[in-house]
Amino acid sequence: MITQGVKVTDRCRACGGTTTVDVGQFFDEGMLCWGTEGQCADCSDGWCEQDCGPVTPENIRQALLQAHGAARLRLSGDVPSLVPVLQALRSARELSLGEARAQAAQLVETGFIGTLVEMEILAVHLRKRAIQVSVEPAASPRPNDNRNG
Ligand SMILES: [Zn+2]
Repeated sequence: MITQGVKVTDRCRACGGTTTVDVGQFFDEGMLCWGTEGQCADCSDGWCEQDCGPVTPENIRQALLQAHGAARLRLSGDVPSLVPVLQALRSARELSLGEARAQAAQLVETGFIGTLVEMEILAVHLRKRAIQVSVEPAASPRPNDNRNG
């Protein structure tokens, strides 16, 4: 199972105290799933939510991207035909043919950027059709990683 998670703190909607929230994305039995679980330190407020589907709520994606950085999916070999790429994209995401064409063109030109789990899922679908791809960290400007100084 491919999974990525992060703990963030938020303000409790019930008492205004500090809530610890666990958010994450994971890949389970061919499905992209996400979850969010919160518990207030100061009162009994808490929740647990989980769902599967091609679209993860944006606040969860942003929390993961901020904590772990983005991942980049690129083709690592020659692709003689875009047909298997289109098929892979359409099986991984719910896309119209037009959308799949646009995304295939983007994949060939620049690659995709997204969360690690999203990119790994696409990589699984592409590799199933014998398309060679790589997933690597996308360059992200982090002051702490600056080795020039
Ligand atoms: Zn509370």
